[in-house]
Amino acid sequence: MHVHTLIIGAGPGGLSCAKILADHGIDTLLIERNNDIGSKVCAGGVTWSGLISRLPETLVEKSFPHQFVKTPLQSITVCEKQPIIATVNRIRLGQHMAHIARDAGANIRTGLLLRQVKPSSICVQDTTTGENEEISYDYLVGADGSNSPVRRYLQLDSKEIGVGINYQIPGDINRMEWHLNNTLFGNGYGWIFPHANTISIGAYAARSTMPAAQLQKNLIQWASLQGYDLNKQPAQAGSINYGFQGWNFGKTFLIGDAAGLASGLTGEGIYPAIISGEQVALTIVNSAHSSSVMDTLIRTHAKHSKALRISGKNGLLNSLLGELVTLGLRSGIVRFNKLEMAC
Ligand SMILES: Cc1cc2nc3c(=O)[nH]c(=O)nc-3n(C[C@H](O)[C@H](O)[C@H](O)COP(=O)(O)OP(=O)(O)OC[C@H]3O[C@@H](n4cnc5c(N)ncnc54)[C@H](O)[C@@H]3O)c2cc1C
Repeated sequence: MHVHTLIIGAGPGGLSCAKILADHGIDTLLIERNNDIGSKVCAGGVTWSGLISRLPETLVEKSFPHQFVKTPLQSITVCEKQPIIATVNRIRLGQHMAHIARDAGANIRTGLLLRQVKPSSICVQDTTTGENEEISYDYLVGADGSNSPVRRYLQLDSKEIGVGINYQIPGDINRMEWHLNNTLFGNGYGWIFPHANTISIGAYAARSTMPAAQLQKNLIQWASLQGYDLNKQPAQAGSINYGFQGWNFGKTFLIGDAAGLASGLTGEGIYPAIISGEQVALTIVNSAHSSSVMDTLIRTHAKHSKALRISGKNGLLNSLLGELVTLGLRSGIVRFNKLEMAC
């Protein structure tokens, strides 16, 4: 089998890329190792400036014009007229995006695991039958997440990794919370994100500042003080690659987490995945496509990485920065969207 563009991975990055390519009449095949699309460890937070306004309202579970931020010294509530962040269910988001990509003409095949990448073809394995298949391509897009085999094929390292731990528990609450506490979460944070009939409770930190096992222990301890017993709940964890080293490698492209475009500071990765997916598609359609949107995304990513490096230098500095940012949010000097990837 031969295709013009082969995309590996049906996350938000791969699906947005497939839709734009198909819109332009490009022969596009997207392969996904899972049988179902959309299942992903995630808190499901999307920002107004980034995505809320682009998604159908029916996908939004809850939206929040108020954000509660707590540090060891301050407790504040930031209010805006429009929602700052909304929550979405990743399975519903994935299925919606797959539906519109297929409608546009993209071929999406699930249950196919990428085994080997070669310069003009890949070897995949059917996860049900175990059969191998070779697929050749003109262009290859790695949208295969934080542990991307396509990134490895390009011989790029993945040393800058964040860890996210999520507990999705039953419940119906209406306050979205961010907790900055260097002792518990290093230069990351703990969160409480309400969904339709569940609550996402979790923590994110750069792996270099806090090992995953310690982060989980601290998260369980902190959650119990908030009134949530996570001991008997199933934990889900995932890595977030923020080590960006390029996206355009000639006939091979990387997008989203595979490219390391998620924010190292906040772990926000859905918006960068979708935007980079669209921009890679437009570049494949027209190699002279302006790179200005991608350049803006990369600049914002670099700002987040810089803030992460500074705050990761030592705990005291990180605590001080956390208090200063919170003070800035409280006084209105810092807008909440300055912490977003869409800024
Ligand atoms: C605990 C946690 C909470 C998070 N919360 C948020 C949040 O609230 N908001 C936010 O914006 N971001 C959040 N993120 C980050 C976000 O989930 C990712 O940045 C985003 O999903 C990246 O999208 P992607 O399309 O690049 O990759 P992914 O969504 O990871 O998709 C990659 C796809 O590739 C497939 N794949 C991988 N390897 C192969 C292979 N060998 N063969 C075939 N297919 C393959 C995978 O099955 C997967 O479907 C969170 C992450 C974690 C871990």
